[in-house]
Amino acid sequence: MMQQYMKTKEEYKDCILFYRLGDFYEMFFDDALTASKELEITLTGKQCGMEERAPMCGVPYHAVDSYLNRLVAKGYKVAICEQVEDPKLAKGIVKREVVRIVTPGTNLDTQALDETKNNYIMCIVYIADRYGVSVADVTTGDYLVTELDAGNKLLDEIYKFMPSEIICNESFYMSGMNLDDLRDRLGITIYSLDAWYFDDAICRQTLKEHFKVNALAGLGLDDYDCGIIASGALLRYLEETQKTTLAHMTHLTSYTTGKYMVLDSSTRRNLELCETLREKQKKGSLLWVLDKTKTAMGARNLRKYVEQPLIEKEAISRRLDAVEELKNNAISREEIREYLSPVYDLERLVGKISYQSANPRDLMAFQSSLAMLPPIKYILEEMQSPLLKELYENTDTLEDLCALVSASIAEEPPLAMKEGGIIREGYNEEVDRLRKAKSDGKSWLAELETKEREKTGIKNLKIKFNKVFGYYLEVTNSFKNMVPDYYTRKQTLANAERYIIPELKELEDTILGAEDKLCALEYQLYCEVRDKIASQINRIQSTAKAVAELDVLASLALVAERNNYVRPKLNEKGVIDIQDGRHPVVEKMIPNDMFIANDTYLDDKKKRISIITGPNMAGKSTYMRQTALIVLMAQIGSFVPASSANIGIVDRIFTRVGASDDLASGQSTFMVEMNEVANILRNATGKSLLILDEIGRGTSTFDGLAIAWAVVEHISNSKLLGAKTLFATHYHELTELEGKIDNVNNYCIAVKEKGDDIVFLRKIVKGGADKSYGIQVAKLAGVPDSVINRSKEIVEELINADITTRVKDIAAQSAEPKHTSQKRLDEVDLAQFSLFDTVKDDDVLSELKELDISHMTPMDALNTLYKLQNKL
Ligand code: ADP
Repeated sequence: MMQQYMKTKEEYKDCILFYRLGDFYEMFFDDALTASKELEITLTGKQCGMEERAPMCGVPYHAVDSYLNRLVAKGYKVAICEQVEDPKLAKGIVKREVVRIVTPGTNLDTQALDETKNNYIMCIVYIADRYGVSVADVTTGDYLVTELDAGNKLLDEIYKFMPSEIICNESFYMSGMNLDDLRDRLGITIYSLDAWYFDDAICRQTLKEHFKVNALAGLGLDDYDCGIIASGALLRYLEETQKTTLAHMTHLTSYTTGKYMVLDSSTRRNLELCETLREKQKKGSLLWVLDKTKTAMGARNLRKYVEQPLIEKEAISRRLDAVEELKNNAISREEIREYLSPVYDLERLVGKISYQSANPRDLMAFQSSLAMLPPIKYILEEMQSPLLKELYENTDTLEDLCALVSASIAEEPPLAMKEGGIIREGYNEEVDRLRKAKSDGKSWLAELETKEREKTGIKNLKIKFNKVFGYYLEVTNSFKNMVPDYYTRKQTLANAERYIIPELKELEDTILGAEDKLCALEYQLYCEVRDKIASQINRIQSTAKAVAELDVLASLALVAERNNYVRPKLNEKGVIDIQDGRHPVVEKMIPNDMFIANDTYLDDKKKRISIITGPNMAGKSTYMRQTALIVLMAQIGSFVPASSANIGIVDRIFTRVGASDDLASGQSTFMVEMNEVANILRNATGKSLLILDEIGRGTSTFDGLAIAWAVVEHISNSKLLGAKTLFATHYHELTELEGKIDNVNNYCIAVKEKGDDIVFLRKIVKGGADKSYGIQVAKLAGVPDSVINRSKEIVEELINADITTRVKDIAAQSAEPKHTSQKRLDEVDLAQFSLFDTVKDDDVLSELKELDISHMTPMDALNTLYKLQNKL
């Protein structure tokens, strides 16, 4: 056995091998050490023909799922090795085979997965500076492919899908991308596969065979050379790990990232789209506000909407039309939602059905979900908007399948597939006949019992059953002497004896024989029903998609109605005009409609950049994020929290918000901040929306101010970047830029002074704040009076050492920007800002003062001047 084990283990080196031994899955050697630690189970040893006993641990087969899921969730791959022949019939050692490999991205156990999220596996191939990327969810059959030409775009895709597992080719593995960061911070399992997985010809062949086509052109994969390899390798890998049909992966959808708004990882995090920044929970995120979906499919689909906002006006309008119709038609919408309520996760159910792992109760859940389709379709029929009409067309009421299940499967079937009780009465004559034999058998037993009592005079004689002896007659000790000769004793207990008689044996054969036959027949019929459903996978999947989409649209409509949102207008002129905008999440978090609404206006001309000043806690971040969220909501097709909104579609939103700690990645706060700024300035376009909060905060005042300043100049200049920007800063000096650079405008969030204190008015007004009120805010926060008073003194002193005049000088320079050429920021000579020169100037000045001019020759004077000039 140990030899068989070693041979199997050799083939599955990278997996923990669960080796079936009787009622247990055993692990040996290193696997046992790892598993016993991770699962907190006892480590024992086994004689294995070597000098030392092999470390061993095991888990009982009936509880295997929970142990397996725990290992997989920790990123391990587990290979399940089963006994594949009946041990009773085996000659020599029982044959065993690995029947499935479970990995983080291929776990089919829906109990272990979050139903509101897809569980993706991603395959990345890196060939000649291009990335082929393919993503699949084996529980739902989603299967996508794309190609990218840059590492940062790849990261955006990884953050979008958040796969639990990434497989890749060796070149990607070695490409220098920071994989540890993905592993440690996002908990993604990443490893490279052998080169033969990525063989172009084999990959093409795999795809052709799976989709039963002669050419890949039919799948729309003409322009995806790298993508074909990624999706082919992924399919191979799935086939190898699942060792079963992947019939429910019916479509390979190719997409271009250009179809969606680009959101980098820090923007996703900062805007708290699907989870909050700190607690990493859904509550408090945009998704939390928008999600009133009724089904798990809807919840997953809404997450996809939020994670990939659209950029095509037509496509967004289609969604908005549908949401509007459902909003205005509240009665129909609520009816639809009521019918959606009992609908189970059809996508994952159909996955289970095609994997042949669906149990009878899954089929009942399937059937009761299908029963909701006709009324949903009926209500959809009256809808006018093109998207809802399309969903109407795509919803197949699947009445044939619903009828099949209700006719064939019993009302409350067991979970087990092989123990009978599954098939409904009247579905199959033979089943009914065997059941009758079984139940008649029961009354024959009762008759036999009465007959024997009368015959023997033993009043308490009873016919009983157990699994070891089958049926027997039980007689208590007090009647033992009345037992007739033809009774054969089977077992003696303390107070009773157990017997059998031929007549009972015959009955037993009939009853148990019927039972065995019945179970086998029921299982066979059950499988037939399941396979019939599996053969209709395309119809079910397209219906499930339609239902998921309808659920999302109805949810968006309900949220729009409840939260008083308006339909955004869309424009392609680059104007963002929001009246009375609100932050969708913050307004939910604060009590009784206390949220103060604010307007936003940005365009491509005079109002490209807003500099926003105001004390800490005034509401700057909230205001900027609300603008970004309103734009994003509009582009997913949602109504928005405002009294009116006209949204110029943006291609990307970038945020640089606050000093987020990224200690985990080992970078200083300032470095993270600058990385993000660099990313923004390199990748933003004139059509992007930038949200910049407190740039330059992480370094000294002068450096910080200088960088912030230069960044504003760079963005404002349409030859360099020219993106729409909200820029919050505590450097009041930046307000000097208004009027000097003609598309910069100052705003501040108003506060009112009340004696020594301040009151936050939360209203954005034109103009710059002239004070930072830092000390007042510190006081509000409860900093001790002694510190507050001392701070006031220091501020006074600092004000006297006035730097405002210098700042005004620099502002004058900004009025005539020096870098009107196509220079990028990183090429711009920061030294032109005399802020950096303060120290040098002082040196030159002191040298100048010390010159003894009356004793210098003209030549000396000339040389000295030359030297001094060089120092500047
Ligand atoms: P800042 O960025 O200026 O330091 P924040 O945007 O973080 O300030 O806002 C601080 C707090 O003020 C928020 O957590 C929120 O509770 C409240 N707040 C902000 N804006 C508003 C508003 N428009 N109406 C009501 N409360 C607000």
